[in-house]
Amino acid sequence: MAATTLIPATLIPGDGIGPEIVDAVVAVLDALGAPFAFDTQDAGMAGIEAAGDPLPQATLDSIARTGLALKGPLTTPSGGGYRSVNVRLREAFKLYANVRPARSLIPGGRFENIDLVLLRENLEGYYVAHEHFIPVGDDPKAVAVSQGVTTRIGCERIVRYAFEYAVANGRKKVTLVHKANILKAITGLFLEIGRNIAREYEGRVAVDERIVDACAMQLVMNPWQFDVIVTTNLFGDILSDQIAGLVGGLGMAPGANIGEKAAIFEAVHGSAPDIAGKGIANPLALLMAAGLMLEHVGRQDLAAKLKVAIDRTLNEDRVRTGDLGGKATTRELTAALIARLH
Ligand code: NAD
Repeated sequence: MAATTLIPATLIPGDGIGPEIVDAVVAVLDALGAPFAFDTQDAGMAGIEAAGDPLPQATLDSIARTGLALKGPLTTPSGGGYRSVNVRLREAFKLYANVRPARSLIPGGRFENIDLVLLRENLEGYYVAHEHFIPVGDDPKAVAVSQGVTTRIGCERIVRYAFEYAVANGRKKVTLVHKANILKAITGLFLEIGRNIAREYEGRVAVDERIVDACAMQLVMNPWQFDVIVTTNLFGDILSDQIAGLVGGLGMAPGANIGEKAAIFEAVHGSAPDIAGKGIANPLALLMAAGLMLEHVGRQDLAAKLKVAIDRTLNEDRVRTGDLGGKATTRELTAALIARLH
């Protein structure tokens, strides 16, 4: 049998529960026979400890070389401290599309048969963080001002990605989510461009639109009406956590950040400092992100095998971590997944 050609990929264990879930995912990928040759690099607090920088040059160089990364969660200090490494990575590699699929895996939850994908613009909106304070009297922070940015090119890129994604994945409908009734420039431009691009896909992919607040409510009332949702950066950030909640919480939500020159795969959740080191974190979100990475490199066969192993481990073996109502530790869940793959 010919040896599989290994695909170089950067591996970032990250902070908090990151190293625990990354170890679990690497063990499962090994059992699956995934073709990645990982180059392990630091970032976040781990980057500061190892190299005095939350985003060391060696990490950037590695991703530039491989064009592919699997990333554990990174801690970002709130308020002061350093700027989010996640945001810096998106900017450095122009990762303009954030893909967050949500699929119910455990029957009997509040919502069953959910299968939708949220596509979030990843580089613009309020995340450009053009922010400052205006002092009044002796209060240096009397007024806070933030400016968002939306560009025609940025809107075209993400909306086109959404329609192409729908075509490639057999999805039937794209919903444009906006707040163009109030934010007429920054999200009005997105809606206008979205409507224009939708015309090119007439007859192939249906389009509809929602104001973001109504969308949030309808996602709870009737999530089955949605198929692919595409929206701007901040709205996408909020709605993607909401759809993660529909399918069992953050421990079950993977994400992909796609750019022209690199793609970075991660769990939607953060470094979970409250449970770090306890050995109880759910590795499935990161494992499903690794599944998206397999699809990205054309190994749909292995991604499908992984999905089956996850489904059977959860539903036939009933091995689940605490966030899913079970008692399994990260190690026990990992061993159960590996047993399924063997
Ligand atoms: P969080 O996602 O880390 O945790 C929220 C809650 O969900 C916690 O109760 C946590 O225990 C639980 N949780 C999260 N992942 C879990 C898992 N895999 N298994 C079981 N339970 C899980 O959000 P937070 O507490 O707001 O943020 C903590 C840190 O992570 C912050 O520094 C934040 O900036 C950072 N963060 C990073 C990323 C990323 O790297 N992509 C994303 C979000 C937050």
